[in-house]
Amino acid sequence: MYVDSHCHLSFPELAARIDDIRAAMAAAHVDRALCICTTLEEFADVHSLALRYDNFWASAGVHPDNEGVREPSVADLVALAGQPRVVAIGETGLDYYRLNGRSVDEMSWQRDRFRVHIRAARATALPLVIHTRSASDDTLGILREEGAAAAGGVFHCFTETAAVARAALDLGFYISFSGILTFRNASDLREVARFVPLDRCLIETDSPYLAPAPHRGRTNNPSYVPLVAAQLAELKQCAVEAIADATSANGERLCNRVTVL
Ligand SMILES: [Zn+2]
Ligand SMILES: [Zn+2]
Repeated sequence: MYVDSHCHLSFPELAARIDDIRAAMAAAHVDRALCICTTLEEFADVHSLALRYDNFWASAGVHPDNEGVREPSVADLVALAGQPRVVAIGETGLDYYRLNGRSVDEMSWQRDRFRVHIRAARATALPLVIHTRSASDDTLGILREEGAAAAGGVFHCFTETAAVARAALDLGFYISFSGILTFRNASDLREVARFVPLDRCLIETDSPYLAPAPHRGRTNNPSYVPLVAAQLAELKQCAVEAIADATSANGERLCNRVTVL
């Protein structure tokens, strides 16, 4: 069985065809998925997926790219995290890729929001789902300052260097690989994936984005996560079943404070 550790099934293009997606998942042996929240406004939709289907779980958090949305307090996140089938805090982190003319200094609101999520994760003992883009130094620095190792979590859709992977592993975090791993121009990332120990790897689709080859450019869905596993198997020179088993067990360990992923 496969676990998709990160998908956005509440987004309209996926929510509208959830029955078809679930059938495709079953056919592909993708038995479980973690549905990721990106705004407080969206939480009810994400959560309802986890309540309706016993192989879906939910996170609670506000994505660093989302502006003009309700800003979460620690208390907000702790309250949502206390609801049934919520197993993680995020996605959260830093994204300096699209500054839209602003300086990194001017992104202090993102860093403040990130700290709020880490404090909520520590308060609830739930793992963090980390999004970091063009901001790895600040991401790691804030994780250290806030004692995030106590909560742990996962660096999702990993695209950073081996040095950043090393630092994340040293903080006790897992590393999740997406369909990017299958992209022709991602040879650097494939080298990083070779380096990350299998007992710390997760796999994900980040649906509806980043469909793995040969579906690149189309709408992604969790039934494609075995394609990420197959690429990882090639890199690790092992059977795809070994990747499926290891990444599923890792997902379960990551979220085992509540039930199972
Ligand atoms: Zn993300
Ligand atoms: Zn995401």
